[in-house]
Amino acid sequence: MVNNRLVPLPALTDNYIWLLHHEGQAIVVDPGEAAPVERHLEQAGLALHTILLTHHHADHVGGALALHERTGATVYGPASERLPICHHRLSEGDTVQLPDFGLVLNVLDVPGHTAGHIAYHGRPGDGAPLLFCGDTLFAAGCGRLFEGTPEQMLESLQKLAALPEDTLVCCAHEYTLSNLRWALRVEPGNTMLQQRWEAASRLREAGRPTLPSTIRQELESNPFLRTGVASVSESAARHAARSLSSEVEVFARLREWKNNFK
Ligand code: ZN
Ligand code: FE
Repeated sequence: MVNNRLVPLPALTDNYIWLLHHEGQAIVVDPGEAAPVERHLEQAGLALHTILLTHHHADHVGGALALHERTGATVYGPASERLPICHHRLSEGDTVQLPDFGLVLNVLDVPGHTAGHIAYHGRPGDGAPLLFCGDTLFAAGCGRLFEGTPEQMLESLQKLAALPEDTLVCCAHEYTLSNLRWALRVEPGNTMLQQRWEAASRLREAGRPTLPSTIRQELESNPFLRTGVASVSESAARHAARSLSSEVEVFARLREWKNNFK
């Protein structure tokens, strides 16, 4: 099911730089460093065509300038963030036209982790829809709120949750096992979570990525997309030792719980 033109390149400690290639040309998303990308381009005989950036953090943009200088690739990024290089500034409603890849990517504003964070989604002519969501949505988790409110982040996550269920979720970090360990505390009775834990453990033991996931999997097992589900809101209220009156409050308490979870 996973599109074999889509490759997660491990980088830094636990980042993935997503690479999509077609007929010798490649797109990369959030190159936090240049070396893993250059190594892959060389080994696979690919030319870098486009660089997509989701937000300004160094572990997502650190390699963008060097890669542009060495390959001439065009750089797209969020409209309102400081970036080392960016040719096309994007916000919600904009598109990235990639005819060489049979792909049009749509841009969504997803503030919360950073104030100007964007996500890219679209369906290649020959495969499942793709979502490049940076540090907004993770497998069974979400990004920390460095520059946004719980309200903003919940709204951002709800935009992503509304994408087609077969969308491949290309997150920027391998956080799956630690997220699942926490999610199982939130919803110990969720059998999808238990299955997901077993599958992800096997993948990591084999040294393989647990990503991409799908929007369907996230809807079934990511507590941050389940703030309206009784088992999740009741668990958040129990943990906070008080009643919670809205999904935003449930979300905020879940985020705090996860921040402090060891
Ligand atoms: Zn980040
Ligand atoms: Fe990051």
